[in-house]
Amino acid sequence: MSTTSTNLTDLTSQIQGAVLLPGSPEYTQAQQGYHTPRSALAPAYIVQPAAHTDIPPALAFAAAHAPALEVAVKGGGVHSGTWASTAGGVLIDLARLRSVTLAPDRESVRVQGGARWGDVYDVGRKEGFEVVGAPLWDVGVGGSMVGGASGNLSGRYGLGTDNMLSATVVLADGRIVEASEEKEADLFWGIRGGGGQFGIVVEFVLRVLPPSGPQTAGSFVYPGSAHREVFKAVQEFHASATVDEKATLFFTRPAPDYEPTLIVAPWISAKSARATDDILRPFRTTAVPKTEKIITVPDQFTASHLSDATRALAPPRLTIRGVPLSQPWPEIMLGVWARWYKFTEENSDGRGSTVVWDVRNTGRIAEVDVGETAYVPREPHLPVAIQGRNTLPETDEAVSKFVASLANYMHSENTALLGRDLGIMVSIAQGDEPVEVVFGQNVGRLRKVKAKYDPERVWKRGVVVEPNSE
Ligand SMILES: Cc1cc2nc3c(=O)[nH]c(=O)nc-3n(C[C@H](O)[C@H](O)[C@H](O)COP(=O)(O)OP(=O)(O)OC[C@H]3O[C@@H](n4cnc5c(N)ncnc54)[C@H](O)[C@@H]3O)c2cc1C
Repeated sequence: MSTTSTNLTDLTSQIQGAVLLPGSPEYTQAQQGYHTPRSALAPAYIVQPAAHTDIPPALAFAAAHAPALEVAVKGGGVHSGTWASTAGGVLIDLARLRSVTLAPDRESVRVQGGARWGDVYDVGRKEGFEVVGAPLWDVGVGGSMVGGASGNLSGRYGLGTDNMLSATVVLADGRIVEASEEKEADLFWGIRGGGGQFGIVVEFVLRVLPPSGPQTAGSFVYPGSAHREVFKAVQEFHASATVDEKATLFFTRPAPDYEPTLIVAPWISAKSARATDDILRPFRTTAVPKTEKIITVPDQFTASHLSDATRALAPPRLTIRGVPLSQPWPEIMLGVWARWYKFTEENSDGRGSTVVWDVRNTGRIAEVDVGETAYVPREPHLPVAIQGRNTLPETDEAVSKFVASLANYMHSENTALLGRDLGIMVSIAQGDEPVEVVFGQNVGRLRKVKAKYDPERVWKRGVVVEPNSE
């Protein structure tokens, strides 16, 4: 590494980017969590690299302290836990590394580690391509890709991470390496679903896909009293959904009356061979909506902004846990509804908490063997996210407890009904889950990869395995 000095002037003289210190407006801005104040700690230093080569001096600066300062990495800063921050350490904030460059042969696109999916979709709509990424424009590419990256196109094309062709990674010892199936293959395996525990991915090379054309989206809204019919409609939809059709079900209490409400937001690709009315029939007849609004949007970029207005109204404090369910089990749906209803009825500051069910055909995700990448929940499943939301800091504990207990309930019920454990999505874990549950059969290899690329455990934030080369 370039320096062993703890002198800040030495660091700033070696980098093109900036070092932000507490008290400056730039620090205050960069310190904030993107979605929620709950994810912001107070780093001693925030380094904003302007080039990949700025990162090794920042790592050396942290390591030169006695004891070494903790290092954390922020991509989009979207994770609801404190993984993309550090108390008193060095935060490497990739906010200035957001470029997106289409290769001359138009078969791949280079995306820097601090980009958001909207940055990629924006270039995609102008250049005429798509990539597999998260459905929301502001989710960071960095954190989501190392955690799998599941989106609307995943049924047809697999996870974002299944479409990663190679990556440039800054390792804990300051080396900058290329990782692919051919080079640093263990590292390439680990960064595809193992989380941010092996290094900082400063650039992803992603497979470019042909545009799939206009997409059908919108919403059906039902009163809480119709929940049984809605669950039945969801189960019917799930039974017939192809890889080009998805529906997201929300348990929510919208302002101004905060009545329990179910919203189904369908997404249908133009590639679907079925008639839209046939696909949507369960949401119109098995359950009859109070209101419906179905629209067509031209591309992934526009679709990724559809929920902006609703999201802007959500209470600011957020904590999320996610559980993959092997199917929309009726008993689990009813159990979750009862628990969510009770909590949001009894806790007025926590009533903005929602449960979000991604009802889909797992398709291509399940065609990849679990051992092929570090990502574990491959079997057919629907991801469910429990979003605990509140306004007052004093409600945080109750909301966190509710989210954790609901996640445990869903995970244990699904394991009992299925007869085996599907694991947990690492990108919406909180870090207190056992590594054996999150990474299942891949734990042993992850420990070896950790021993090879980060034996000193420099990367500590997130779900992190102990290095073990045996
Ligand atoms: C409202 C909401 C909706 C979501 N929807 C989806 C979804 O549809 N699909 C989906 O797949 N995920 C979804 N997620 C989860 C999301 O993928 C994770 O929160 C992810 O961590 C966000 O990426 P980020 O770059 O913003 O992460 P950050 O918050 O910046 O960081 C989270 C973790 O990733 C690590 N990390 C970040 N960038 C890099 C990098 N370049 N190299 C190495 N490690 C890095 C950090 O060190 C940290 O440990 C959602 C999350 C939220 C809050």
